[in-house]
Amino acid sequence: EAAAKAAALDADKGAPTIFDKIINKEIPSNIVYEDEKVLAFRDINPQAPVHVLVIPKSRDGLTELGKADPRHEEILGQLLYAAKIVAEKEGILDGFRVVINNGASACQSVYHLHLHVLGGRQMKWPPG
Ligand code: ADP
Repeated sequence: EAAAKAAALDADKGAPTIFDKIINKEIPSNIVYEDEKVLAFRDINPQAPVHVLVIPKSRDGLTELGKADPRHEEILGQLLYAAKIVAEKEGILDGFRVVINNGASACQSVYHLHLHVLGGRQMKWPPG
């Protein structure tokens, strides 16, 4: 937990991220869903039997949700709808969680907006 917080604090929020390499297929990923605007792939360090990340292919300033402005409204809706498609494809529509970690206090470590889609086990509340 402390390590995650430290990594979050160290992040250079404007720099390209590893997700650019995933989008450009420079490094491998396990893609679950893809369309013109959105990419969904399995998290490399899954926190549940299903753990998929949903990201915009173009970051366009969306390092984190807190940077959203009106021009992002459409892509934000597309990301949330893609999360539903992922849940459906993964067979977890009966119970799943969508998470956005925003900023260092929430342990965000990759500054390219991403939705975590988690499921396949009983989720607990509150999250840590
Ligand atoms: P945290 O790292 O604290 O979970 P984030 O919300 O920024 O914070 O999540 C970034 C996610 O990206 C992590 O769940 C991490 O496992 C995942 N990740 C990092 N690198 C890769 C990669 N190459 N392929 C897939 N997932 C990755």
